[in-house]
Amino acid sequence: MTDALRVGVVGGSIGGLFAAALLARAGHEVTVFERSQHGLARRGAGLVAQQELFDLLHRVGRDDAARVGVVAHERITLARDGSVVSRDASPQTQLSWDHLYEVLRAALPTASYRLGSAVQSVEPSGRGAVVRLAEGRSEAFDLVIGADGLNSVVRRAVAPESTANHYVGYVTWRGLIPEEALPPAAARPLLDRFAFFTGPESHMLGYLVPGPAGEVERGRRRYNWVWYRPMTGQRLRELLAEAGRDPQGASLAPGQLPDALRDELVADALRELPPPFSAAVEAESRPFLQAIFDYVPPRMAHGRIALLGDAAVMVRPHTAMGAAKAAGDAMALADLVAELPLDEALSRYDAERLPVGRAISAYGRRLAASLPFARP
Ligand SMILES: Cc1cc2nc3c(=O)[nH]c(=O)nc-3n(C[C@H](O)[C@H](O)[C@H](O)COP(=O)(O)OP(=O)(O)OC[C@H]3O[C@@H](n4cnc5c(N)ncnc54)[C@H](O)[C@@H]3O)c2cc1C
Repeated sequence: MTDALRVGVVGGSIGGLFAAALLARAGHEVTVFERSQHGLARRGAGLVAQQELFDLLHRVGRDDAARVGVVAHERITLARDGSVVSRDASPQTQLSWDHLYEVLRAALPTASYRLGSAVQSVEPSGRGAVVRLAEGRSEAFDLVIGADGLNSVVRRAVAPESTANHYVGYVTWRGLIPEEALPPAAARPLLDRFAFFTGPESHMLGYLVPGPAGEVERGRRRYNWVWYRPMTGQRLRELLAEAGRDPQGASLAPGQLPDALRDELVADALRELPPPFSAAVEAESRPFLQAIFDYVPPRMAHGRIALLGDAAVMVRPHTAMGAAKAAGDAMALADLVAELPLDEALSRYDAERLPVGRAISAYGRRLAASLPFARP
């Protein structure tokens, strides 16, 4: 094995934690910088279970976390009037994002996960890289991993010529409600199924996920809905400004959408969606928003700095592969660092994982092409 390295990970969501947990387990000295003050517990919903997630949990000795999931036993497609137009018996498991986050955090010593640590920049330095924190301090590492998501600051050190995301012209509105909040007429068709609807200006899906503390018993799970709608870049900026947020931003968290706009969303849902889905929208008092972006970098590593997860490649959520891709990045990086001298490991990481990111990105764009409102 390579000598123990000092590794700095920028971003402590699941992508950063995947890498941190694997590298800490391999004996490296890992520090995670997460800008959130209070941690990300209870921020997530469900993740479609995929092989990379099972593999990663196995490697960190936590196969048990892969069992905290809810199974949808069939897929159904609804018509606008709420009738079921197709059924497909393909079971699918949704894992709890929150539980995964807790499990991975528990895999690290408490002191190595630093909350309230916003990173301002990362710069190459000698045979390593320096992390500069917003508060003014700097720390030097042998290796820095940028797992800082969509608006990554680490991208500027790895791919300064191309850091901008491309807004794809549609957003997701999302909701996460206790299953009991669904009225019975909506609960009957929706619960225990993966349900879809596509209309001229809407693509919607919904499914059960575990409760906030990983509960999987009937009555304690949550219903997660995702409603894709077209929105011009200008309207997105206006909406963010109306909500009192940065117009250049990409999302609204639960509670940030003003009541009047939430009421408009419900009125649109009643007009455009099948009744079970409009009832699910109505049952969410704090819907949240996520604009959709594409980003593929020219490279994933430069010097002793590497990108991983959404910081590296943004793929469309239709793929349901963002977390699995981040887990794949983390496992490849940890394996290469164990096998090869660091510089060679990072250049192999770039050569192996960039084509994977490109392929998943292209797959997401192909899936999106079937949406009636997606512009090529
Ligand atoms: C609607 C929707 C549905 C999805 N569904 C699925 C699914 O079913 N399955 C799936 O696999 N994936 C899904 N994804 C994608 C998935 O959520 C991400 O791809 C995955 O979580 C990987 O994220 P990440 O850790 O790389 O980045 P993020 O989760 O964005 O985390 C970045 C972290 O970095 C921190 N940070 C940012 N800047 C700084 C800074 N300067 N200093 C310090 N910290 C910083 C942030 O606070 C955050 O904690 C979905 C995405 C969307 C939008």
